[in-house]
Amino acid sequence: MATTASKKILIVEDEKDILDLVNLYLQKEGYRTCTAMTGLEGLTLAKSEHPDLIVLDLMLAEMDGLEVCRRVRADPQTAVLPIIMLTAKAEESDTIVGLEVGADDYVTKPFSPKALVARVKALLRRVERQQGESPRYTYGPLVLDVARHEVTDKGREVPLTAKEFGLLEHLLQHPGRVMTRDVLLNAVWGYDYFGTTRTVDVHVRRLKQKLPCLDDAILSVKSLGYKLKERDG
Ligand code: CA
Repeated sequence: MATTASKKILIVEDEKDILDLVNLYLQKEGYRTCTAMTGLEGLTLAKSEHPDLIVLDLMLAEMDGLEVCRRVRADPQTAVLPIIMLTAKAEESDTIVGLEVGADDYVTKPFSPKALVARVKALLRRVERQQGESPRYTYGPLVLDVARHEVTDKGREVPLTAKEFGLLEHLLQHPGRVMTRDVLLNAVWGYDYFGTTRTVDVHVRRLKQKLPCLDDAILSVKSLGYKLKERDG
């Protein structure tokens, strides 16, 4: 959990000078950083490094910032990650597209590093406020935080895949109710998912392996589906 540690910023920029400058200023402000020089590398780090925010250059060779932004938003694991886009003044129309595909804010080049750091701080504050209001589900020692896309068991973070997370979220929303495999499949995988209800069984099993406290709590309801036992708290 990154509650006590400083926030981590991912910087994606293919111009080395700018990358180094932004990196330096963010580190000076006490942020942890990770850096990527291509869009693809940025996408990989967005998942593996669990950053709290991305500073994303629009103009990248091969996969540009817009595409990176789209993909970050499309992946449930990174969908809510705050993004500040770096754009050039001449690309005003791209800036608008950037906001449309899901960037939270943008800074036009050339920019002062101080101004960028101020925007980073402001956006992180905004997100923290929103997270304070976001739904959290608790179940005994389990806490599922929707905005953070995080599940903790007795305060220890348990990494779940997007589908495992979705499945757990759905069960926590409906304790005491029998959820058929079809309902779960539609809710978590979507109506157009081409698969069998066996998929649900496999994911329930994995969920129980990762979160042993659910072993007795998720009941299999013969030939129907699953039910999360009701409990106080
Ligand atoms: Ca660039």
